[in-house]
Amino acid sequence: GIPKTSGEIDAMAAAGRLLAAAHEAMAREVAVGTTTARLDAIAEQVIRDGGGVPAFKGYRGFPATICPSVNDQVVHAIPGEYALADGDLISIDCGAVLDGWVSDAARTYAVGDVDPVVARLIEVTRRALDRGIAAAVLGNRVGDIGHAVQTEVEAEGFTCVESLVGHGVGRSMHEPPNVPNIGEPGTGEPLVEGLVIAIEPMVNIGGPDVTLAPDGWTVTTRDGSLSAHWEHTVAITSSGPRILTC
Ligand code: MG
Ligand code: MG
Repeated sequence: GIPKTSGEIDAMAAAGRLLAAAHEAMAREVAVGTTTARLDAIAEQVIRDGGGVPAFKGYRGFPATICPSVNDQVVHAIPGEYALADGDLISIDCGAVLDGWVSDAARTYAVGDVDPVVARLIEVTRRALDRGIAAAVLGNRVGDIGHAVQTEVEAEGFTCVESLVGHGVGRSMHEPPNVPNIGEPGTGEPLVEGLVIAIEPMVNIGGPDVTLAPDGWTVTTRDGSLSAHWEHTVAITSSGPRILTC
């Protein structure tokens, strides 16, 4: 993507704050019995009340504001009447557009009492995102981010989905460069000042392979193992990585 000016990054941060508010509102409602359609409605309300537009709705025909991916669903699931059950894991991906600028972020939650490995999967994925963000500094390259994420994940015995990647963000939700969750240090696109990227580890308990469900949207793990997803939109600045979606 084209590097953003500091003013443009501030505008993107406003979009990111609105998205964070939508995530906070959904977080309060994640509980046994809540439907994914209800979470979707909450997110859309917060975004529209804040003067924004849901980024996902209508994107290539996607019908909703959030992608609520439960258990072995990795990403891109469609909200509906499914009610969260005790022991579920749900990752919620959402995007908001404000004044023409896009923000993109995902969070994963445990529902009720989960198996300890589920709690560990969520925590490791979140930590992998933190490690990736820490590597998003001037002088590094995209491969340094992937390497940081991959190292954290594989040390815990989990795997990164390789066929889905992070991306540049700006006026469009998906801009160059791709930001894989695996990589070799010192390789790939240089991280230049003003570059804004979505860093988004998708982590599976089992193997890294995924399949597309018959609905044409939902991506699931091939082996049926559970998957978690954390994402922030981050700007590369001279004073370090700036998380825009918080
Ligand atoms: Mg996303
Ligand atoms: Mg994304």
